[in-house]
Amino acid sequence: MATNSSPYRCHVAIIGGATAGAEAADKLASEGALCVVFEQNDRPYGKVEDGLPRWHSALRRKEYDLIDTKLARDGVHFVPRTAIGRDVGFEDLLRTWGFDLIVLANGAWRDRPLPVDGADAYLGRGLVHQNPLIYWFNHHHEPRYAGPTYEVPDGALVVGGGLASIDVVKVLQLVITRDALAARGIEQDVLAMEAKGIPETLAQHGLAWPDLGLEGCTLVYRRRIEDMPLTEPPPTGRVEDPIKSAAVRRKILEKAQSKFLFRVEPLTAPVSLLVEDDRLVGLRCARTRVEASGRAEIVPGDEFELRAPLVISSIGSIPEPIHGLAMHGELLRVEDAERGKIADFEHVFGCGNVVTGKGNLVASRRHSGQVATHLVQRFANDARASEHTDALLERVRERQRNVGFDGDYRAWIERVRLEGFV
Ligand SMILES: Cc1cc2nc3c(=O)[nH]c(=O)nc-3n(C[C@H](O)[C@H](O)[C@H](O)COP(=O)(O)OP(=O)(O)OC[C@H]3O[C@@H](n4cnc5c(N)ncnc54)[C@H](O)[C@@H]3O)c2cc1C
Repeated sequence: MATNSSPYRCHVAIIGGATAGAEAADKLASEGALCVVFEQNDRPYGKVEDGLPRWHSALRRKEYDLIDTKLARDGVHFVPRTAIGRDVGFEDLLRTWGFDLIVLANGAWRDRPLPVDGADAYLGRGLVHQNPLIYWFNHHHEPRYAGPTYEVPDGALVVGGGLASIDVVKVLQLVITRDALAARGIEQDVLAMEAKGIPETLAQHGLAWPDLGLEGCTLVYRRRIEDMPLTEPPPTGRVEDPIKSAAVRRKILEKAQSKFLFRVEPLTAPVSLLVEDDRLVGLRCARTRVEASGRAEIVPGDEFELRAPLVISSIGSIPEPIHGLAMHGELLRVEDAERGKIADFEHVFGCGNVVTGKGNLVASRRHSGQVATHLVQRFANDARASEHTDALLERVRERQRNVGFDGDYRAWIERVRLEGFV
């Protein structure tokens, strides 16, 4: 019996619906693919919602709108409240659902451990990771907040160097300044202070930073300021681009320091823990030098102590393992990063933070677009029967029904919107 062929050029499962997943879905659907986006949460905004501190409201609004437009388009089917590896097995998705391709866009949600022997034992006792700290900052004032709570002391150390670590030092500086003002009977909103900067805010109250008697926090970075990954060089490959990027990076850091008054220790790497009464009280550090290869090497014999009431590790996030998908140490086994090809699988690809590890929205989106373009070129011609598409879509609808989603993306987002959090 003759069968009709499917109207879709291929059938793609995308794991994760945020910046990278939505971009891949949009590109692939516009080329005639059927895309099913599995998102573990109610809302698909990923790091944009819970990673970026809440003052990034304009950026967040813009990203939400972009993601919504891409996920609401024809050819894209959204499946919320579905974690692959927990609610649907990865092997099941790969072998029995009927997808031609799987695209991993699940980001990087596990804090990379501080690379100092024994550090993790002090989590909650002098050591904190970036992701829960930012989540606390964003949500702790909500009436139903039930997560961990943090006291932010003066003089903390932040180990990092990327965009996220600048946000972490800003959170610390804003909170200690707000608390110091509160101790003088002055109520100050942290978001308003973030917009103006600390010196200008203090001036409005007739005060200056030295009046508060605060030391401020210190950002520890293992390379030079010019090496901080605070901006993405444009992908032109011109010789002057790295020089321009170095100048832009220095400028970004100087501007942040002038507004938020934190200190920076560049060319510094933690080498061991300072522990007293079973609590982390700082780090023993070494000076480094940056080799021509870009590697930071420790300078032997040049060690010193940095004592602090709290150490925050902000050295990047790594993918959460998905049950059924082998990892290579803390990372996915990527065979070809440019095309996102995952080793050991013919039809599994990755895009965005889960592969780039860069923690940058533009880089995530660019990488995702690049992977999708490659997939369209390579897999567009696999002909399938329309019965195949119908069976797959029936399975998708069943899962959507089970999680209470009726297939109307816009109506769902209205329903699960977080009150007062843009
Ligand atoms: C504090 C902080 C500040 C930052 N500041 C900036 C900045 O100023 N500028 C900038 O460009 N970038 C910044 N970034 C980085 C930026 O937020 C990320 O690079 C970007 O959002 C990553 O997008 P993504 O889609 O790759 O991953 P994510 O946003 O992490 O999305 C992954 C999605 O996959 C879902 N998911 C995960 N596992 C599963 C699973 N098993 N099944 C189904 N779904 C799953 C998640 O729920 C999530 O929705 C910052 C990040 C942080 C943490």
